[in-house]
Amino acid sequence: MSKKTKKTFSIAIDGPSGAGKSTVAKALAKKLGFIHVDTGAMYRSVGLYVYRKGILPDDREKVIPCLPDINIDTKYENGSQRIYLNGEDVSEAIRQNEISSYASKVSAIPEVRAFLLDLQRKTAEKYDVIMDGRDIGTVILPNADLKVFQTASAEARARRRYEELVAKGAEVSLDEITEQMIKRDYDDSHRENAPCVPADDAVIVDNSDMTIEENVDHIVGLVNERRKSKQKKTPYERVKKSLSGLFSFLYRLKVKGKENIPKGSGYMVCSNHIALFDPVMLAIAFPYQLHFMVKIESMKSAFGRMLSSLGCFGVKRGTADKTALRTAIGYIENGECLGVFPQGTRKPAVDPKETEPKTGISMIAYRTGCDVVPVFIKTKKRKLRIFSKTTVIIGKPIKNSELGICQGTAAEYKNAADKVFAEICALEEGEV
Ligand code: C5P
Repeated sequence: MSKKTKKTFSIAIDGPSGAGKSTVAKALAKKLGFIHVDTGAMYRSVGLYVYRKGILPDDREKVIPCLPDINIDTKYENGSQRIYLNGEDVSEAIRQNEISSYASKVSAIPEVRAFLLDLQRKTAEKYDVIMDGRDIGTVILPNADLKVFQTASAEARARRRYEELVAKGAEVSLDEITEQMIKRDYDDSHRENAPCVPADDAVIVDNSDMTIEENVDHIVGLVNERRKSKQKKTPYERVKKSLSGLFSFLYRLKVKGKENIPKGSGYMVCSNHIALFDPVMLAIAFPYQLHFMVKIESMKSAFGRMLSSLGCFGVKRGTADKTALRTAIGYIENGECLGVFPQGTRKPAVDPKETEPKTGISMIAYRTGCDVVPVFIKTKKRKLRIFSKTTVIIGKPIKNSELGICQGTAAEYKNAADKVFAEICALEEGEV
């Protein structure tokens, strides 16, 4: 087990029951020295608690009030998980056949999922993990370093589960297990909340004809590839890293409101614009890459190369630059983040409140449905000066629905842009 002092590496393995996720995850954990988090065991523990109370697992009215009385704890011995339900080691008890369908039914209750989400995420923050389940790549760890969707034909999966149960002395028939498995697959992949489906960026591994060793080796290969590319810094990361120390020193840069940064991506950051270096300030403040829309003249300036390494792209002012708009929309639709300066041009030492914001931001928000994060770059006398304090203040995201754009009319665009800009300006009141 490697307790982390630096960034952790996480592997998400999702897939239907009997796809060998736990077996492979355990072997991988041993090989890589990672922690194996079996999230199915957590749902099974909730299922076991409910079963012992004589409550039906789909009786939401009775299951939900039980949650505060359930304490699930996981301990790791040689990288594998032991699970404790209110202090009792239930690692074996949760494997009974009846508990499988209890786990599946309680897992369809959103409150149960929310209850376990925190526990699952916190483990991944602390350790290098291999987490297996149904919604790890899609919901629990959307930024996992590697996502695998492991599957096999229904026949192969039912046979494996049957052999596992028979080896434990259970009296079950293969037909019965196949039928239960098909039903559980259907329920897990068709439920409204966190259905078991591959994440868009998951690698599908069908192990119907693979041995466990082949399966494990295949995933180790994928991990090695990802680790290599993770170590390689992109031009954005290189420029950002070399500029962060310099800018923190030269402009005494501070960032406030980091807690307001949305966890996912695909949003638009809108900021006031006082200096050519504003994209650098924002790149340093935000954890994910922002693609900045800046006026074409800045891209042609002496700093053009630096701006382009920081993901900036040019927009022609004074015209409806369709190419720039398409690029901006493309980034958000791709799940990336966009940085825009609605003032259109730099306005140092001018009251930003007197500025008419450009409505391009409203059009982008309408076309993509994205939320908007307002930011104010605050400096003394609204000028960027060396050795004078600069604070990037990040406000609470404005939900797309709060922008009031229903039809995409010019009047709606104007109101939405004014609203965003008013929220940007309101942030100036914060202390520098
Ligand atoms: O993987 P395992 O068979 O132990 O999981 C038991 C049940 O728990 C699954 O059928 C599924 O309904 C549910 N589960 C889930 N999300 C997870 C893990 C398991 O819904 N992340």
